[in-house]
Amino acid sequence: MRKVETLVIGGGIAGLSAAARFARHGEVMVLEGEEVPGYHASGRSAAWLHFGLGDTLVRALTAASLPVLAAEPADGSPRAALPHAALHIARTGQDEALAALEASHRMFAADYQRIGAQEIAELVPVLDTGPGGFASAILERSALKLDTDAMLQGHRRALAAHGGAIEFRARVGKIAHREGRWQVDTAGESYSAARLVNAAGAWADTIAGLAGVAPLGIRPLRRTIIRFAAPEGLDVSGWPFTKTVGEGFYMLPDGPARLLASPMDETPSEPCDAAPEELDVAVAADRVMSASTIDIRRIEHSWAGLRSFAPDSHPVVGFDRAAPGFFWLAGQGGFGFQTSPALASAAEALLCGLEWPEELAALGVEAGAIGPQRFAR
Ligand SMILES: Cc1cc2nc3c(=O)[nH]c(=O)nc-3n(C[C@H](O)[C@H](O)[C@H](O)COP(=O)(O)OP(=O)(O)OC[C@H]3O[C@@H](n4cnc5c(N)ncnc54)[C@H](O)[C@@H]3O)c2cc1C
Repeated sequence: MRKVETLVIGGGIAGLSAAARFARHGEVMVLEGEEVPGYHASGRSAAWLHFGLGDTLVRALTAASLPVLAAEPADGSPRAALPHAALHIARTGQDEALAALEASHRMFAADYQRIGAQEIAELVPVLDTGPGGFASAILERSALKLDTDAMLQGHRRALAAHGGAIEFRARVGKIAHREGRWQVDTAGESYSAARLVNAAGAWADTIAGLAGVAPLGIRPLRRTIIRFAAPEGLDVSGWPFTKTVGEGFYMLPDGPARLLASPMDETPSEPCDAAPEELDVAVAADRVMSASTIDIRRIEHSWAGLRSFAPDSHPVVGFDRAAPGFFWLAGQGGFGFQTSPALASAAEALLCGLEWPEELAALGVEAGAIGPQRFAR
């Protein structure tokens, strides 16, 4: 039986970014069921930060995280985020939705510009900007392209630098609460921890179930991404992350000659190693082709991942009042990377009993808004 102070279940962005901070205050061990960090949702992301998703709370968490991600790392390691614009495109008749999005950009002082059809065509020349096409857009210049692998590796290094550790192939199968401590069993080892952090992504409610803690109703929703060749002769590497306002698709560059696209599907799923469905792949290609001059002849690759949402689509961070020492770090939805600095610092404050982070307070984010006690169970 290995004794540790804090045991984190899940080696995705949530678990690793928080564990790296917990390790500054005491002994931390991360248990990850797979062989590598970020095998599930965290390895399947579109890897962008922008203000085009979520509500005011999610945007506030994004705003708090942006300067941290945009800053030069203090340890001299390569930057895990680079400035790269996002473009939120609207058709005629979607002015109200675009105005609402613009109000959010203004609220969080994003660096953005409202542009029309001609400028849209200059930025992404393949888009349909003719009659009935995309007539206006928000060009979000302060958006960031994230290097998710670099982010995960950076947190892993920070965890190790503070004496923390991660065990791979350590799938948690059994959890019991005995004499005020959490006893956690994997196939090869047993651990006893004063505090147990549930950062298991799509499996967050499964872990709660193993621990005898009431689930929160965390729902995994599948999302699909396809990769295809960019139109010949065009270097697309500078194209913005382009997303329709409302239903539609998003599309982003993947190097100079490839594009990625998603139909922004949200299909309920069991927690699993998600795989793309043929229909979602076809819908992705169809939506891109009907909104542009792109002819997708071959899908080179496709993948799917699970975005996990709490019933109110807000993240859940904090101790469960009914289960002493059981800490939730779940429900990161489609914004887990772009909010990870804010959520890790909230988790550190709540788990380690520190002052509530100033940058969150300044943006009106209170602990109660993300705590598990907001759900009546
Ligand atoms: C297609 C797609 C596009 C996205 N695009 C973006 C984007 O552009 N920007 C953004 O910010 N976010 C994006 N997201 C969301 C982001 O990827 C997630 O919010 C984030 O990865 C969630 O991280 P996590 O650590 O909670 O979950 P995960 O990465 O899934 O980590 C949970 C870990 O827990 C482990 N685990 C589960 N059960 C056990 C067990 N019993 N024992 C041991 N380990 C266990 C799993 O193996 C897994 O590695 C996207 C997601 C998808 C799917």
